[in-house]
Amino acid sequence: MRLSQMLFVTLREDPAEAEIPSHKLLLRAGYMRRVASGVYAYLPLLWRVLNKISDIVRDEMNATGAQECLLPQLQPAELWRESGRWDTYTKAEGIMFSLIDRRQQEVGLGPTHEEVITAVARDMVRSYRQLPLHLYQIQTKFRDEIRPRFGLMRGREFIMKDGYSFHTSESSLKETYQEMYQAYSNILRRCGLEFRAVDADSGAIGGSGSTEFMVLAEAGEDEVLYTEDGKYAANVEKAVSRPVEAMPSTFSKFEKLETPNTPTIESLAKFLKCSPTQIVKNVLYQATFDNGRVVLVLVSLRGDQDVNDVKLTNELTKLAADYGGSAVITLGVPDEDAQRQWAAKPLPLGYMAPDLGDDYISGGKEVEPKFLRLADRTATDLKNFVTGSNETGYHVVGGNWGKEFTLPKQVVDVRKAVAGDRALHDPSQTLQTARGIEIGHIFQLGTKYSQALGATFTDENGAELPLVMGCYGVGVSRLAQAAVEQSYDKNGIVWPVAIAPYQAIVVIPNMGDDLQVEAAKAIYKELLSVGVEALLDDRDERAGVKFKDADLIGIPYRVVTGRALRDGKVEVVDRATGIVQEVALAEVVPLIKGWIVDELLASR
Ligand code: ATP
Ligand code: MG
Repeated sequence: MRLSQMLFVTLREDPAEAEIPSHKLLLRAGYMRRVASGVYAYLPLLWRVLNKISDIVRDEMNATGAQECLLPQLQPAELWRESGRWDTYTKAEGIMFSLIDRRQQEVGLGPTHEEVITAVARDMVRSYRQLPLHLYQIQTKFRDEIRPRFGLMRGREFIMKDGYSFHTSESSLKETYQEMYQAYSNILRRCGLEFRAVDADSGAIGGSGSTEFMVLAEAGEDEVLYTEDGKYAANVEKAVSRPVEAMPSTFSKFEKLETPNTPTIESLAKFLKCSPTQIVKNVLYQATFDNGRVVLVLVSLRGDQDVNDVKLTNELTKLAADYGGSAVITLGVPDEDAQRQWAAKPLPLGYMAPDLGDDYISGGKEVEPKFLRLADRTATDLKNFVTGSNETGYHVVGGNWGKEFTLPKQVVDVRKAVAGDRALHDPSQTLQTARGIEIGHIFQLGTKYSQALGATFTDENGAELPLVMGCYGVGVSRLAQAAVEQSYDKNGIVWPVAIAPYQAIVVIPNMGDDLQVEAAKAIYKELLSVGVEALLDDRDERAGVKFKDADLIGIPYRVVTGRALRDGKVEVVDRATGIVQEVALAEVVPLIKGWIVDELLASR
C-alpha cells in the first residue's frame, strides 16, 4: 500500500478524550475515530490488525475441531425470557440494547449468544452421536456498558470471538475446556502478549469453573493475585488465601468500655492497644434483588479484613430465593440518603455489634424487616473478641460466640484476599499482585441454559438428558488495544510482528530525488513479491515527518532510501530495539523476510 493513497491522518497532540497510553496512541496514529461514547470506527490500519488477530483465533480454534458460524445479532426477547435473562439484562442491569420492531415485537442486540446457540442446538441436536460439538463466531457484540472507557478496552460495540460447546457429560466438557485453555494460551502467545491464566468468578453467566486470560499491564481494570512458584493465580474477585494468624486476645472478661472517637478499626485498636485481628467488625450492606426487594445485610468479619463485594454478591445470589428473587441487582454500603429511606433511628455507625437490633429498620414495603446476618470465617474463630456495643462511643471486649453473641446461621467466605496473604497450597508462598486486562474468559456452564431452554439429547440407553455446555470468549478488539498497552515507547506504538498492520515500511526521505524514489519502489515491489506486507511512504512530506509517523504507527521494520544509496546501501531500522544498520541493496529484502519468519516462528 502506498501511503500517498491511503486515508492516513496522524495527530501531533494527545486527544483530550483519551486517558491511557494505548487509547491515545491508537487515536493519534489514525487507527480509529470515536463516533459516539464507546463506539468507534475501525480505520484501515486497525482493521488489518483486527483481521490478523481474528486469523490467529480462527487458526487455533479450527485446530481443535471447533467450527465457525455466524449467529444473528438481532435476538427475539422470547429466547431471553426462556433463560430468565430478558428483564435482568434489559432492565435491571440494563446491559442489553433492546427495541420494539414494527410488529410490536421486542428484540435485543446480542451482548452474548448462549440463548441463540442453545435454541439452535435444541432444534438440531438429537443424539449422543452428534456430540461433542463446538461452534464459534467472530462478531460485533453490543453492550450498553455503564462506563464505556479507555477506547476499545470497554466499548459499547466491540468485536468478540465467542464459542459454545455441547457435550454428553461433564468429563467431555472438561476435555474441551482443557483444549480451550491451551488454545487461548496459544492465541495470546502468538499475538505476542505477556499474559497469565487466572481462576475467575463466573458472574452472571453462571456455571462452575472458569478461567480468565489476563494481559499484564498497569492500566488493567483487574487485579490478579499470584504466587512466585506459578502454582496459583486468581482474579482478586475470586482469590482465596490464608489470612495472617489472629493475635490471641488480651481480654478475658466481658465488659462494655467507653471508647470515645473510635469509629474506625484503626482508631479503636490504637485506643484499646489491641490488634485489629482481635476485633469483630460489622459492616452494613444494602442489597436489591431483581424483584425489587431490598435486604439489609450485616456482615461480621475480622477487623483487619475487608469484604470482597463479588464474593458477597455470590453468597446473596444463593440466598435470593429466600427473598423471592433470583439475582442481586445492586449492592453497596448505604449512604445517608439510602439510610433515611428505611432507618427507624440513626444507626450507631462505627459502633455496631453483630446483634444490632432489627428495630433499626422501620420498613417501607420493599424493605425486608430483618437484617440478614452473615459471619465470615475469619470472625467465627475469634475468642474474647472486641466488637461494637450498638452505642456510639462504646465497645465491648471479651465477647464470645455462643455466649454474649449468637453466631449467624450463615457462615461464609466473603473476605478479600490481598497481596501479602499466605497461599493455601503452600503457606511459605505469599500472594503477589499485578494489574491485568481481561482478554479471554472460558466457562464450564453445565446445564444452566440447556435446562432452561429444554435443549436435550438422547444417550446410548435412550434416556433424554440436558446438553452439558461450555462457553469461551475472546475480546478481539480489546486484545488489539491491550497489545499496544503492553508495547509502546515515547515515539509511538511497537506492534508485535504477528499482529502489526504491515510488517515493513519503505520510506523515501526526498521525493525530489529520482534515485531514492526508484530504489524505494524496487525494494517495495520486491518485499511484496516475497510475501512481506509492506507500506511505501511516497507522500510529499519532509523526511522528519515521515520518520515520526513510521514510529508512531509502529511498523516493525523500516527501510530508508537515504544518503547511503550512493554506496549501494539503505538504512534498516528495527522499531522495537531502535537499532539502525546499513544494508546492501541486494540483501535488504532477504534480511527483512528472514526476521519476519523468525519472529513468527518464535511465537508459535
Ligand atoms: P468485563 O468484566 O471486562 O466486563 P465480561 O466478563 O463482561 O468482561 P465476557 O462476557 O466474558 O466479559 O466477554 C468475553 C470477552 O469479551 C472478555 O474477556 C473481554 O475481552 C471482551 N469484552 C467484554 N466486554 C467488553 C467491552 N465492553 N468492550 C470490549 N471488550 C469486551
Ligand atoms: Mg462485562
